[in-house]
Amino acid sequence: MVTRPRPHPRRRAKLAVWKFASCDGCQLSLLDCEDELLALAAEVEIAHFPEASRATVRGPYDLSLVEGSITTAGDAARIVGVRRASRKLVTIGACATAGGIQALRNFADITDYLSVVYATPAYISTLERSTPISAHVPVDFELRGCPIDRAQLLDVITAFLHGRRPNVAPHSVCVECKLRGTPCVMVAQGTPCLGPVTHAGCGALCPAVDRGCYGCFGPQEAANTGSLAARMASGGALEGELLRIFRTFNAGADEFRREADNHEP
Ligand code: SF4
Ligand code: SF4
Repeated sequence: MVTRPRPHPRRRAKLAVWKFASCDGCQLSLLDCEDELLALAAEVEIAHFPEASRATVRGPYDLSLVEGSITTAGDAARIVGVRRASRKLVTIGACATAGGIQALRNFADITDYLSVVYATPAYISTLERSTPISAHVPVDFELRGCPIDRAQLLDVITAFLHGRRPNVAPHSVCVECKLRGTPCVMVAQGTPCLGPVTHAGCGALCPAVDRGCYGCFGPQEAANTGSLAARMASGGALEGELLRIFRTFNAGADEFRREADNHEP
């Protein structure tokens, strides 16, 4: 009798998901991929994802998704180990790509916040600044959003599994408004809107409900923030408002940080 060799079982790529200073919303976007999760689990071995399971498989990992910013000395050391254990590392969300809303501390004295927020500040061990992952280790791709868009996330995971470039649209939220036929809130209503300088991905959610975009997807490439600020100023926005508009979820992103600095009193 001839015995045929058994086909070698295909090795699934090892996926790891890591959390640093964050609200977990971006990790939840992965769990929220309800229709695609089984297909994804067939393609990858979810080797480390404490938000989903206590079971952990040792590295190295083919792809690591990193959520959150660096705000403690311990995390600054931990991310180095994560990078070492990861063939590819993708940061997900405003916290990981720009320092997040917690980067507002970068424009104030951290000791002031500690005394206001915590009953016993002496128990808190934290860095003065919240910084993105790319300030500490090399990053292979940054996926923006607060939270990220799950369709973009699935595309990025698929891209890295197949060795192609992620197919994440580089245009602004403005283009998404045009694509869905939403009238411009700035032109039609005079509402300040960061859509012209904000990275696409949300499908222009806020203008669709008559609100200005507040930039939760962060700056698009080559964002012309100066022209937009001048346009908003000519529409009546005061310096303090312009400062506040650019200094929110992505206050630490270079383009928004520089523009906000221009409007400091
Ligand atoms: S980017 Fe936004 S949704 Fe994602 S972890 Fe940070 S605060 Fe949460
Ligand atoms: S319109 Fe702007 S603020 Fe609203 S979800 Fe989209 S990127 Fe975020």
